[in-house]
Amino acid sequence: TRSTRPQRLLRAVQKKAIKGDPQSVISTIDYFCRHSEWAMNVGDEKGAILDSVVCEVSPSTALELGTYCGYSTVRIARLLPPGTKLITLEFNPDYAAVARQIIEYSGLQDKVRVLWTDGVNHIYICLVEGASGDLIPKMQELFGIKTFDFVFLDHWKDRYLPDTKLLEECQLLRKGSILLADNVICPGTPDYLEYVRNSPRYESKYFKSHLEYTKVEDGLEKSVFLG
Ligand code: SAM
Ligand code: MG
Repeated sequence: TRSTRPQRLLRAVQKKAIKGDPQSVISTIDYFCRHSEWAMNVGDEKGAILDSVVCEVSPSTALELGTYCGYSTVRIARLLPPGTKLITLEFNPDYAAVARQIIEYSGLQDKVRVLWTDGVNHIYICLVEGASGDLIPKMQELFGIKTFDFVFLDHWKDRYLPDTKLLEECQLLRKGSILLADNVICPGTPDYLEYVRNSPRYESKYFKSHLEYTKVEDGLEKSVFLG
């Protein structure tokens, strides 16, 4: 049977990237997606904006909605301070299986823990298989997370708004929490944009860029939760 795109992307990483080197894994995936097959990773151009926001926030708790192959997970994880908890949610088990291998290959495997009771010198990545709508209400119960400092929204576009409201309802946002949303122009998330731009509970800013690996306009929306 024919392999899937995530499997081919994983094979490219195993063949070409330096094991234990997150930057090399990221560059290998970007090269593969520019020269072989397009894939829905945030990519290198918007990835640079993501990097700068992660560095600026320097979160100790972070949530990623939509793992896919783990590209953005590795990208975010490589910049996190020790002790950080990064939870990433993916409801497709085939994608989650590939992402686990890519995260491990990048050398972040020591940092993959389901529970984070041991030590503070690692960051803890937890890839949870399941739907955001089911898992967001369980963050406190499953991981003891009270609030997230940083949330990266990059799952299906019609879920950005309901999941943001769910994060609010579950009191997982604190004054100053940062939401960073990908693909707000392409494919686009009009209801989400209208909400964060007009709600008095957010201060929101657009970062213009391009859809991953193309010249089509897309961008990231960074929104500060004001409480
Ligand atoms: N963040 C990844 C990156 O930049 O490397 C790309 C994520 S991809 C654009 C979106 C992913 O979200 C898909 O793998 C899809 O299966 C997953 N997804 C979509 N809706 C979801 C939901 N409600 N809960 C969990 N995962 C979801
Ligand atoms: Mg995206």
